[in-house]
Amino acid sequence: MAVRPFAVGIMLGVHQDPRVSVEKCKKVGVNNAQLGVPPNEWLTLEGAMEVKRMFDEAGVTITTVFCGFEGERYDDIETVRRTVGYVPEETREERVRKTLQIAEWAYAMGVKRIAAHFGFIPEDPTDIRYPVCVETMRRICDYLLPKGMTFGLETGQETADTLLRFIRDVGRKNINVNFDPANMILYGTGDPIEALKKVGKYVVSVHCKDGKWPTEPGKLGTEVPLGEGDVGIDRFIATLKRIGFKGPLTIEREVPDPPQTDDMIKAKALLESLVKSKRAGAKKNR
Ligand code: MG
Repeated sequence: MAVRPFAVGIMLGVHQDPRVSVEKCKKVGVNNAQLGVPPNEWLTLEGAMEVKRMFDEAGVTITTVFCGFEGERYDDIETVRRTVGYVPEETREERVRKTLQIAEWAYAMGVKRIAAHFGFIPEDPTDIRYPVCVETMRRICDYLLPKGMTFGLETGQETADTLLRFIRDVGRKNINVNFDPANMILYGTGDPIEALKKVGKYVVSVHCKDGKWPTEPGKLGTEVPLGEGDVGIDRFIATLKRIGFKGPLTIEREVPDPPQTDDMIKAKALLESLVKSKRAGAKKNR
């Protein structure tokens, strides 16, 4: 089922039981969601069919399956650097294999997009790890391409310029961006609105999440309910309108429940009012 542009959806937790996930969609009242990869026991063909049936019955379209890996931790910047995505060498091969398995699982449900945090892509292209990152991304994209599938890079751990360089160096047409404005703030990698303008043509999906800038070096900033942080969510929606974004608005709130569901319900009301608002879309290109 096609999801109309700016339809509000939610991001469901990585490694969360899909039965919990589908109930969350019903409670928040959305018709689309990004599904975090469920626990391993669901990653079978039967599991895919069961998840598809549950979401179909609830009238919820899964727009993306979001990858996550054992051992990833987000405590502070150094821990993220050591543990997240495809950059750490010790876990790279196993995670690439897992990604391809997740892709097959998503494909079985008819979902054509997967996404992940790539990890800290080196800002310096002469860093010896950089070509390995490019090669790793190409391998994943090349696997997905014949299936008509795409890979979304979650933003935040690198600047917009590094992300752009990486996408160009990978040189595959099925790579795109899942833009998370709060991550740009939480990781201190740059003003999210300026970043969105730079990478806009690659953005096919977004996380509507908010945050406050880090106050200490090496620490992450603080995620807060949508509208209460430094993103400027009205500017974010206005910029998405201006760049011709066509995807859904996927709320992400990375806290336990409660208060997660309640925060998502409030975020949905806020987003729907901003989408309708003439003011949020009225500024012309300058
Ligand atoms: Mg995100």
